[in-house]
Amino acid sequence: MASEAVVKRTLQSIANMFNKGSWWVNDSLKMWMIQLNYIDDRDLIIGTKNCLRKAKKLPTVANLIDIIDADPRTTSNEPTVFDACPACYGSGCREMARWYSMKGVLRVSFGLAACDCPKGTRLSMGAFQDWRSVRDSWMNDQYTEQVFYSTAQQPHLTTDQTITPEQLEQRAQRARAMLERTGSRSGWHTVKDSTPSRLTE
Ligand SMILES: [Zn+2]
Repeated sequence: MASEAVVKRTLQSIANMFNKGSWWVNDSLKMWMIQLNYIDDRDLIIGTKNCLRKAKKLPTVANLIDIIDADPRTTSNEPTVFDACPACYGSGCREMARWYSMKGVLRVSFGLAACDCPKGTRLSMGAFQDWRSVRDSWMNDQYTEQVFYSTAQQPHLTTDQTITPEQLEQRAQRARAMLERTGSRSGWHTVKDSTPSRLTE
């Protein structure tokens, strides 16, 4: 994890190069600290030097991370580390399902949350919430009946963990209705229809 001192030094050297005041350093510090939290000081220093050599305009923290990732001299973020996470299969996301009752009806909500591996950590800075905080908030909810989530033993949730029996039945009914509407007329339907007429002949 990058230390505050080194992140601050990074920001200061970028600020010097692009004529940004100390307000910019202070404003950016917290967000950069969070986003750089899985990069160590050594890699950050290598990446910053590299970034300053290349940058033609003010780099964002994402630009800097890309440069660190691409640099073979850095170690904190090798792609193999991403692939090694068995809980999210290297996607950075864990599947999550919450079973809860609402007005006496059992429902399921299903979604994705950021894993706690390096890839997931990066995702959690954007659109995805951390899976542990999702799990905890669900478990603390009085209407929650059960919570399922990806683990190293089971990286993908099964259908019966993510869909209620009622929804499964509705889905099957819809499929049947569709089949009847679009009609494979050669099925039992035709036989059944034609049976009475044959009988009255
Ligand atoms: Zn993961």
